[in-house]
Amino acid sequence: MTLRLYDSATRSVRPLEPLQPGKVGIYLCGATVQGSPHIGHMRSSLAFDVLARWLRRTGHEVTLIRNVTDIDDKILAKSAEAGDPWWAWAYRFEQEFTTAYDALGIGRPTYEPRATGHVTEMVEFMERLLQRGHAYRGESGNVYFDVRSLPEYGSLTRQALENMSVGEDDDGEPDKHDPRDFAMWKAPKPGEPDSASWPTPFGRGRPGWHLECSTMARRYLGDDFDIHGGGIDLRFPHHENEQAQSHAAGYGFARHWVHNAWVTVGGEKMSKSLGNSLIVANLLERTSPAVLRFALGTVHYRSTVEFSEVTVAEATGSWERFSGFVTRAVERVGEVDAVEVSAQGPGQLPAAFVEAMDDDLNISAALAVIHEHLRAGNTALAEQDDVATRAAQLQVRAMLDVLGLDPLAAPWRTAGGGGADGAERAALDALVAAVLEDRVQARKNKDWQRADALRDQLAEAGVVVEDSSDGARWQLKGKS
Ligand SMILES: [Zn+2]
Repeated sequence: MTLRLYDSATRSVRPLEPLQPGKVGIYLCGATVQGSPHIGHMRSSLAFDVLARWLRRTGHEVTLIRNVTDIDDKILAKSAEAGDPWWAWAYRFEQEFTTAYDALGIGRPTYEPRATGHVTEMVEFMERLLQRGHAYRGESGNVYFDVRSLPEYGSLTRQALENMSVGEDDDGEPDKHDPRDFAMWKAPKPGEPDSASWPTPFGRGRPGWHLECSTMARRYLGDDFDIHGGGIDLRFPHHENEQAQSHAAGYGFARHWVHNAWVTVGGEKMSKSLGNSLIVANLLERTSPAVLRFALGTVHYRSTVEFSEVTVAEATGSWERFSGFVTRAVERVGEVDAVEVSAQGPGQLPAAFVEAMDDDLNISAALAVIHEHLRAGNTALAEQDDVATRAAQLQVRAMLDVLGLDPLAAPWRTAGGGGADGAERAALDALVAAVLEDRVQARKNKDWQRADALRDQLAEAGVVVEDSSDGARWQLKGKS
């Protein structure tokens, strides 16, 4: 069995057949860094993080390229309004995106190229298209792609040219030959800072969005590569135009197109009008990062995530069931080493889980398998069957790890995803255990004052103690 993935170009689920066996190259359209990231921005990177994790788990070497669009009309307009240099504005939000990705445990891409760093390659690309008769220079100084020069234009989204609407990035430029032609290169507009344009054989200007991705995908993944991904809203005009440019230049470009669905709130696509409450940093003040990842990352990538208080409550419940089991299993039989967890390949993982993931990343079927093993694990705990408890801990954690949700993995290990490593955690365990032992002694001696003082001391350090029938248990405040 190999991974079968839905291909938006052929509109069919078909096997992923890497160009080079064992290696997969993925280009994912990243953020236009014009403002703070909200949860809608996280969906794509999360979906492709799960894809990359599954590919790696099944023995592939993955090269994931996710670009940063660090110059565009909105960045220029917003930074000008704020009185900041555009590059400072873009970099500020680029860092906010990185922080948000890290908080949700989204693995870093292999490389994250910026549009502004690839002007030389863009110029070469345009020269090639001009030479081949697929582009022209307008009077404005813009360079346009000539959609009528490419008979296949529209093929990605199956639109005939005569029925096609003009793209959302159309500014009604009067020097275009056809309203559906699009700017690959933009001449400076009046009032734009000098630093926002580069000298080229076509005059000063700056990159267009579509050209940036065609150029960078080729630079890092080659003329032909395995997967191009992005949000479903990017299919037209962005991906249609990327493909047109690259095919017109004579490159094979993406062999498989994978698009993820939106996050909706109250049934509507996320947008600015929904306010600041859905900005990742704000949400993380009241929701743990693991719960947020659970809510956004355990829905099939082609299905809409409807985000609400209910979604968060359900994700909290599921996460607590999984992390609670793992905590109890570790207390009973010790922690299975992370190396062993990540070594569980398709030959060791439950067959039904492997089958679900290979079936277009069928995450709900995969979760059902994890739940089965969770139930078996809870039964084993109740029956004090240590062999079965250990086996369940290993399987549950290994499967959750494929989804980026092993409760003992780095981002979730300590309160609020604080990231203590194993040694720090062991030191903390030993210190808290010593204080709790003192407290047990104080209570035996009926020295209630001392017992309470020890408890308060722990509370002050952020350690919450719960007394249960089998002794005191503790956790860090705010950890769910
Ligand atoms: Zn793109």
